[in-house]
Amino acid sequence: MWETAEGQPIAVTGLHSACFVEKVPERRAASAEWKENMRIGSVEIVSLIDGEVEGSAEAMYPTAPAGTWERNKMHLNRLSGKLLMSVGAYLLRFPNRLALIDCGNGPNPKPPFRGGALRSSIASQGVDPEEISDVIFTHLHFDHIGWATHEGKPSFPNATFHCNQLEWEYNMREDYEPQEFEIRSANPQDLAHVRLAPIRDRFRTWSGTDTGLPGMTTIPAPGHSVGSCAIILESEGERCAFLGDVAHSIPALIDGLRFPINENSDQAMESLYSIRSFLAQEGIPCSASHFPGLCWGKVVRNGSEYRWAPIG
Ligand SMILES: [Zn+2]
Repeated sequence: MWETAEGQPIAVTGLHSACFVEKVPERRAASAEWKENMRIGSVEIVSLIDGEVEGSAEAMYPTAPAGTWERNKMHLNRLSGKLLMSVGAYLLRFPNRLALIDCGNGPNPKPPFRGGALRSSIASQGVDPEEISDVIFTHLHFDHIGWATHEGKPSFPNATFHCNQLEWEYNMREDYEPQEFEIRSANPQDLAHVRLAPIRDRFRTWSGTDTGLPGMTTIPAPGHSVGSCAIILESEGERCAFLGDVAHSIPALIDGLRFPINENSDQAMESLYSIRSFLAQEGIPCSASHFPGLCWGKVVRNGSEYRWAPIG
Protein backbone atom coordinates (compact mmCIF):
# COMPACT_ATOMS: atom_id res chain seq x y z
CA MET A 1 0.00 0.00 0.00
CA TRP A 2 1.31 3.47 -0.86
CA GLU A 3 0.81 6.11 1.77
CA THR A 4 1.06 9.87 2.04
CA ALA A 5 3.53 11.43 4.49
CA GLU A 6 0.60 11.66 6.90
CA GLY A 7 -0.03 7.92 6.64
CA GLN A 8 -3.19 8.22 4.51
CA PRO A 9 -3.51 5.52 1.85
CA ILE A 10 -3.14 6.69 -1.76
CA ALA A 11 -5.82 5.52 -4.17
CA VAL A 12 -3.36 3.99 -6.62
CA THR A 13 -6.05 2.41 -8.78
CA GLY A 14 -7.93 5.66 -9.26
CA LEU A 15 -4.76 7.65 -9.90
CA HIS A 16 -3.56 5.09 -12.38
CA SER A 17 -6.74 4.92 -14.38
CA ALA A 18 -7.13 8.68 -14.41
CA CYS A 19 -3.57 9.54 -15.38
CA PHE A 20 -2.35 6.71 -17.55
CA VAL A 21 -4.71 3.99 -18.54
CA GLU A 22 -7.20 6.12 -20.40
CA LYS A 23 -4.65 8.26 -22.18
CA VAL A 24 -1.90 5.96 -23.34
CA PRO A 25 -4.01 3.33 -25.09
CA GLU A 26 -5.92 5.83 -27.21
CA ARG A 27 -3.05 5.71 -29.69
CA ARG A 28 -2.74 1.94 -29.33
CA ALA A 29 -6.45 1.49 -29.88
CA ALA A 30 -6.08 2.54 -33.49
CA SER A 31 -4.46 -0.81 -34.19
CA ALA A 32 -5.86 -4.26 -33.81
CA GLU A 33 -2.45 -5.65 -34.67
CA TRP A 34 -0.57 -5.22 -31.41
CA LYS A 35 2.79 -6.97 -31.57
CA GLU A 36 5.63 -7.03 -29.11
CA ASN A 37 8.15 -7.28 -31.93
CA MET A 38 7.62 -7.32 -35.65
CA ARG A 39 7.77 -10.72 -37.31
CA ILE A 40 7.89 -11.23 -41.06
CA GLY A 41 7.74 -14.91 -41.99
CA SER A 42 10.63 -16.53 -40.16
CA VAL A 43 12.41 -13.24 -39.37
CA GLU A 44 11.95 -11.43 -36.06
CA ILE A 45 12.70 -7.71 -36.15
CA VAL A 46 13.62 -5.69 -33.07
CA SER A 47 13.90 -1.90 -33.06
CA LEU A 48 17.06 -0.81 -31.23
CA ILE A 49 17.54 2.71 -29.92
CA ASP A 50 20.88 4.49 -30.09
CA GLY A 51 19.65 8.01 -29.32
CA GLU A 52 17.37 10.77 -30.48
CA VAL A 53 17.08 14.31 -31.72
CA GLU A 54 14.20 16.66 -31.05
CA GLY A 55 13.12 19.94 -32.54
CA SER A 56 10.23 22.22 -33.28
CA ALA A 57 8.01 20.67 -35.94
CA GLU A 58 7.57 24.06 -37.64
CA ALA A 59 11.34 24.52 -37.86
CA MET A 60 11.91 20.99 -39.16
CA TYR A 61 9.23 21.38 -41.84
CA PRO A 62 9.15 25.11 -42.61
CA THR A 63 6.98 24.71 -45.72
CA ALA A 64 4.28 22.56 -44.07
CA PRO A 65 0.80 24.05 -44.67
CA ALA A 66 -1.02 25.81 -41.83
CA GLY A 67 -2.90 23.34 -39.64
CA THR A 68 -0.45 20.50 -40.26
CA TRP A 69 0.71 20.22 -36.64
CA GLU A 70 -2.70 20.65 -35.07
CA ARG A 71 -3.90 17.78 -37.26
CA ASN A 72 -0.80 15.73 -36.41
CA LYS A 73 -0.45 16.58 -32.73
CA MET A 74 -0.72 12.89 -31.82
CA HIS A 75 2.68 12.50 -33.51
CA LEU A 76 4.35 15.21 -31.40
CA ASN A 77 6.04 14.30 -28.15
CA ARG A 78 3.55 14.63 -25.31
CA LEU A 79 6.04 16.11 -22.87
CA SER A 80 7.73 18.67 -25.09
CA GLY A 81 5.22 19.28 -27.88
CA LYS A 82 8.14 18.86 -30.29
CA LEU A 83 8.91 16.36 -32.99
CA LEU A 84 10.98 13.55 -31.50
CA MET A 85 13.13 11.63 -33.95
CA SER A 86 14.72 8.43 -32.72
CA VAL A 87 18.06 7.24 -34.02
CA GLY A 88 18.92 3.55 -34.04
CA ALA A 89 18.96 0.28 -35.90
CA TYR A 90 16.88 -2.79 -36.59
CA LEU A 91 18.04 -6.20 -35.44
CA LEU A 92 16.91 -8.96 -37.81
CA ARG A 93 16.87 -12.44 -36.35
CA PHE A 94 16.89 -14.87 -39.28
CA PRO A 95 16.67 -18.58 -38.40
CA ASN A 96 20.41 -18.98 -38.98
CA ARG A 97 21.96 -15.51 -38.67
CA LEU A 98 21.67 -12.03 -37.19
CA ALA A 99 21.77 -8.82 -39.22
CA LEU A 100 21.40 -5.10 -38.60
CA ILE A 101 19.83 -2.46 -40.79
CA ASP A 102 21.67 0.83 -40.14
CA CYS A 103 23.67 1.30 -36.95
CA GLY A 104 22.84 4.56 -35.26
CA ASN A 105 24.67 7.75 -34.49
CA GLY A 106 27.77 6.40 -32.79
CA PRO A 107 29.28 6.91 -29.36
CA ASN A 108 29.61 10.69 -29.19
CA PRO A 109 27.03 12.41 -31.35
CA LYS A 110 27.20 16.14 -31.80
CA PRO A 111 24.31 18.04 -30.17
CA PRO A 112 21.44 18.40 -30.74
CA PHE A 113 21.71 14.64 -31.38
CA ARG A 114 21.80 12.63 -28.16
CA GLY A 115 22.66 9.03 -27.49
CA GLY A 116 25.30 6.47 -28.17
CA ALA A 117 23.34 3.60 -26.57
CA LEU A 118 23.25 1.09 -29.43
CA ARG A 119 25.75 -1.31 -27.83
CA SER A 120 23.55 -1.48 -24.75
CA SER A 121 20.43 -1.94 -26.88
CA ILE A 122 22.09 -4.85 -28.68
CA ALA A 123 23.23 -6.35 -25.38
CA SER A 124 19.67 -6.08 -24.04
CA GLN A 125 18.68 -8.56 -26.74
CA GLY A 126 21.28 -11.07 -25.56
CA VAL A 127 23.33 -10.53 -28.71
CA ASP A 128 27.11 -10.19 -28.93
CA PRO A 129 28.50 -7.89 -31.64
CA GLU A 130 30.54 -10.86 -32.94
CA GLU A 131 27.27 -12.62 -33.85
CA ILE A 132 26.19 -9.98 -36.38
CA SER A 133 26.84 -11.41 -39.86
CA ASP A 134 25.63 -8.49 -42.00
CA VAL A 135 24.98 -4.77 -41.66
CA ILE A 136 22.83 -3.25 -44.40
CA PHE A 137 22.70 0.53 -44.80
CA THR A 138 19.72 2.47 -46.17
CA HIS A 139 22.23 5.25 -46.91
CA LEU A 140 25.54 6.49 -45.51
CA HIS A 141 24.69 9.64 -43.56
CA PHE A 142 26.45 9.93 -40.19
CA ASP A 143 23.33 9.11 -38.14
CA HIS A 144 23.00 5.69 -39.82
CA ILE A 145 26.59 4.45 -39.78
CA GLY A 146 27.73 5.61 -36.34
CA TRP A 147 28.56 2.28 -34.74
CA ALA A 148 30.09 0.66 -37.84
CA THR A 149 33.50 1.33 -36.29
CA HIS A 150 34.64 2.48 -32.88
CA GLU A 151 38.06 4.03 -32.25
CA GLY A 152 39.19 2.86 -35.67
CA LYS A 153 38.15 -0.77 -35.20
CA PRO A 154 35.13 -2.66 -36.54
CA SER A 155 32.31 -2.77 -34.00
CA PHE A 156 30.97 -5.95 -35.61
CA PRO A 157 34.16 -7.89 -36.34
CA ASN A 158 32.54 -10.74 -38.26
CA ALA A 159 30.09 -8.67 -40.29
CA THR A 160 29.96 -7.92 -43.98
CA PHE A 161 28.64 -4.43 -44.71
CA HIS A 162 26.27 -3.66 -47.58
CA CYS A 163 25.17 -0.45 -49.29
CA ASN A 164 24.15 0.99 -52.63
CA GLN A 165 27.03 1.48 -55.08
CA LEU A 166 26.12 5.11 -55.87
CA GLU A 167 25.99 5.91 -52.16
CA TRP A 168 29.40 4.33 -51.66
CA GLU A 169 31.02 6.18 -54.56
CA TYR A 170 29.60 9.54 -53.49
CA ASN A 171 30.44 9.35 -49.79
CA MET A 172 33.76 7.51 -49.87
CA ARG A 173 35.59 9.60 -52.47
CA GLU A 174 38.97 10.96 -51.40
CA ASP A 175 38.07 14.59 -51.99
CA TYR A 176 34.72 14.43 -50.15
CA GLU A 177 33.60 17.89 -49.03
CA PRO A 178 31.19 17.84 -46.06
CA GLN A 179 27.81 19.34 -46.76
CA GLU A 180 26.51 22.24 -44.72
CA PHE A 181 24.17 20.05 -42.63
CA GLU A 182 27.04 17.67 -41.88
CA ILE A 183 29.28 20.49 -40.67
CA ARG A 184 26.42 21.72 -38.47
CA SER A 185 25.24 18.38 -37.05
CA ALA A 186 28.17 15.94 -37.14
CA ASN A 187 31.73 15.66 -35.91
CA PRO A 188 34.33 15.27 -38.70
CA GLN A 189 35.08 11.69 -37.57
CA ASP A 190 31.38 10.76 -37.89
CA LEU A 191 31.29 11.15 -41.68
CA ALA A 192 31.32 8.09 -43.89
CA HIS A 193 34.71 8.63 -45.55
CA VAL A 194 36.31 8.64 -42.06
CA ARG A 195 34.02 6.33 -40.05
CA LEU A 196 33.97 3.58 -42.67
CA ALA A 197 37.60 3.79 -43.79
CA PRO A 198 38.77 0.98 -41.44
CA ILE A 199 36.20 -1.43 -42.95
CA ARG A 200 36.47 -0.48 -46.64
CA ASP A 201 37.44 -4.02 -47.58
CA ARG A 202 34.44 -5.49 -45.74
CA PHE A 203 31.89 -3.73 -47.95
CA ARG A 204 29.76 -5.29 -50.66
CA THR A 205 27.79 -2.83 -52.77
CA TRP A 206 24.70 -3.39 -54.85
CA SER A 207 23.44 -1.75 -58.03
CA GLY A 208 19.80 -1.82 -59.06
CA THR A 209 17.35 -3.35 -56.61
CA ASP A 210 18.95 -6.63 -55.48
CA THR A 211 21.05 -6.35 -52.32
CA GLY A 212 22.53 -9.80 -52.93
CA LEU A 213 21.20 -10.91 -49.53
CA PRO A 214 18.46 -13.55 -49.37
CA GLY A 215 14.98 -12.01 -49.15
CA MET A 216 16.25 -8.43 -49.25
CA THR A 217 15.61 -6.14 -52.20
CA THR A 218 15.42 -2.37 -52.43
CA ILE A 219 13.33 0.41 -53.84
CA PRO A 220 15.74 3.14 -54.93
CA ALA A 221 14.72 6.39 -53.19
CA PRO A 222 17.20 9.03 -54.36
CA GLY A 223 16.88 12.62 -53.21
CA HIS A 224 17.70 12.69 -49.52
CA SER A 225 21.05 11.27 -50.62
CA VAL A 226 22.16 10.07 -54.05
CA GLY A 227 21.82 6.38 -53.27
CA SER A 228 19.14 6.32 -50.55
CA CYS A 229 17.05 3.17 -50.60
CA ALA A 230 14.02 1.65 -48.95
CA ILE A 231 14.76 -1.97 -48.13
CA ILE A 232 12.11 -4.64 -48.63
CA LEU A 233 12.36 -7.81 -46.56
CA GLU A 234 10.44 -10.86 -47.76
CA SER A 235 10.10 -14.13 -45.85
CA GLU A 236 7.60 -16.94 -46.29
CA GLY A 237 5.33 -14.77 -48.43
CA GLU A 238 5.26 -11.81 -46.02
CA ARG A 239 6.92 -8.44 -46.65
CA CYS A 240 7.86 -5.28 -44.78
CA ALA A 241 9.66 -2.07 -45.71
CA PHE A 242 12.50 -0.24 -43.96
CA LEU A 243 12.20 3.31 -45.24
CA GLY A 244 15.51 4.77 -44.05
CA ASP A 245 15.15 8.54 -44.49
CA VAL A 246 12.48 8.49 -47.20
CA ALA A 247 10.49 10.29 -44.50
CA HIS A 248 11.91 11.60 -41.22
CA SER A 249 8.57 11.54 -39.40
CA ILE A 250 5.16 9.93 -39.68
CA PRO A 251 3.43 13.22 -40.64
CA ALA A 252 6.01 13.72 -43.40
CA LEU A 253 5.20 10.30 -44.87
CA ILE A 254 1.44 10.69 -44.59
CA ASP A 255 1.10 14.35 -45.57
CA GLY A 256 4.05 14.48 -47.99
CA LEU A 257 5.99 17.16 -46.10
CA ARG A 258 9.24 18.51 -47.52
CA PHE A 259 12.28 18.03 -45.25
CA PRO A 260 14.81 20.84 -45.71
CA ILE A 261 17.91 18.60 -45.68
CA ASN A 262 18.10 16.79 -49.00
CA GLU A 263 20.68 16.35 -51.72
CA ASN A 264 17.94 16.95 -54.28
CA SER A 265 14.70 18.12 -52.69
CA ASP A 266 12.34 17.59 -55.66
CA GLN A 267 13.75 14.12 -56.25
CA ALA A 268 13.31 13.32 -52.53
CA MET A 269 9.64 14.30 -52.76
CA GLU A 270 9.14 12.14 -55.87
CA SER A 271 10.66 9.20 -53.99
CA LEU A 272 8.42 9.84 -50.97
CA TYR A 273 5.23 10.08 -53.07
CA SER A 274 6.01 6.97 -55.05
CA ILE A 275 6.92 4.86 -51.99
CA ARG A 276 3.90 6.13 -50.04
CA SER A 277 1.65 5.05 -52.90
CA PHE A 278 3.40 1.67 -53.08
CA LEU A 279 2.97 1.10 -49.33
CA ALA A 280 -0.73 1.97 -49.43
CA GLN A 281 -1.34 -0.19 -52.46
CA GLU A 282 0.52 -3.21 -51.12
CA GLY A 283 -0.60 -2.77 -47.50
CA ILE A 284 2.74 -3.89 -46.10
CA PRO A 285 4.11 -2.81 -42.69
CA CYS A 286 6.79 -0.12 -42.73
CA SER A 287 9.10 1.70 -40.37
CA ALA A 288 11.57 4.53 -40.91
CA SER A 289 14.87 5.13 -39.17
CA HIS A 290 13.69 8.27 -37.33
CA PHE A 291 10.13 7.35 -36.43
CA PRO A 292 9.80 7.51 -32.61
CA GLY A 293 10.96 4.18 -31.22
CA LEU A 294 11.57 3.05 -34.82
CA CYS A 295 7.90 2.08 -34.69
CA TRP A 296 5.86 0.20 -37.28
CA GLY A 297 2.63 0.88 -39.06
CA LYS A 298 0.82 0.76 -42.36
CA VAL A 299 -0.02 3.54 -44.79
CA VAL A 300 -3.74 3.57 -45.56
CA ARG A 301 -5.17 5.52 -48.49
CA ASN A 302 -8.56 7.15 -48.32
CA GLY A 303 -9.25 8.92 -51.62
CA SER A 304 -6.54 11.54 -52.02
CA GLU A 305 -5.61 11.39 -48.33
CA TYR A 306 -3.40 9.03 -46.38
CA ARG A 307 -3.38 8.00 -42.76
CA TRP A 308 -1.07 6.03 -40.48
CA ALA A 309 -2.33 2.80 -38.90
CA PRO A 310 0.11 1.93 -36.10
CA ILE A 311 1.22 -1.61 -35.37
CA GLY A 312 2.27 -2.07 -31.78
ZN1 LIG B 1 18.93 10.04 -40.84
